[in-house]
Amino acid sequence: MAHIKSERTLVVIKPDGLQRTLAGEIIKRYERLGLKLVGMKLLVPTASHIKTHYNLDPNWKRIVGEKSIEAYQKKGLTPPSMDPLVLGDKVIDSLQKYMTSGPVVAMVWQGAHAVKIVRKVTGGTEPLTSDVGTIRGDFVVDSYQMADTDGRAVRNLIHASGSVDEANNEIKHWFNPEELINYRLVQEQILYDVNLDGLLE
Ligand code: ADP
Repeated sequence: MAHIKSERTLVVIKPDGLQRTLAGEIIKRYERLGLKLVGMKLLVPTASHIKTHYNLDPNWKRIVGEKSIEAYQKKGLTPPSMDPLVLGDKVIDSLQKYMTSGPVVAMVWQGAHAVKIVRKVTGGTEPLTSDVGTIRGDFVVDSYQMADTDGRAVRNLIHASGSVDEANNEIKHWFNPEELINYRLVQEQILYDVNLDGLLE
C-alpha cells in the first residue's frame, strides 16, 4: 500500500472563486499546510464533464438531497420536496450552470491526509454554517435557503474531494497522468523524515 504521505486530492476553484479574485488566497491556504501541488490547470469545463463528475459516485445525488432536506429542517423550514433524488437532480442541473459559467482552476494536492486536511480547511458546504477560519466560512456569504429561493447552486468557491476513493476517481476525470508531476519538495524532509539528521551545521 502507498504511504499515507502520497495521498492525493482534487481541488477545483469554482468560477466564483476566480471572479472574486481569491485564487491566490485559496491556493495559499493549501500551500501553507505543507501540501505539494502536483497538477494545476485553468479551464472552462463543459456541462457533460460536470454531470459526469457529480455522477462518479452513484450515491452522491441521494446524499446531497438528504443533506439539503436536513439543512432545511434544522432551520425549521419546510423542504421543497421530501424526495432526496428530486432535490439531488435539481442540484446537478444548477451545478452544470454554475460550474460552466467561467474559468475554473483544477488542482491536485498531495501529502499526508490530503483529502481530510483539505476538506477541513475548505469548510462545510454551506457558507452560512461553515466554521469561521475555513475558506468558505471566511470569504463567502451564501446559504441553501438563498440558493433555493433563486433556483441556483450554492456558491462556495471550491470543490474538494470527499474521500480517498472519490479523489482517485475525480483526479482521473480531470487530469491525464502526464499532467501530474512527481517531484521532491524540500520541505518534505521536515514534515516526514523519521530522523531529522543534517539540519545542524
Ligand atoms: P461539497 O462541495 O461540500 O462536497 P456536496 O458534494 O454535497 O458538497 O455538493 C456539491 C456542490 O453542490 C456544493 O459545493 C454546492 O455548490 C452545491 N450544492 C450542494 N447542495 C446544494 C443545494 N441543496 N442547493 C444548491 N446547491 C447545492
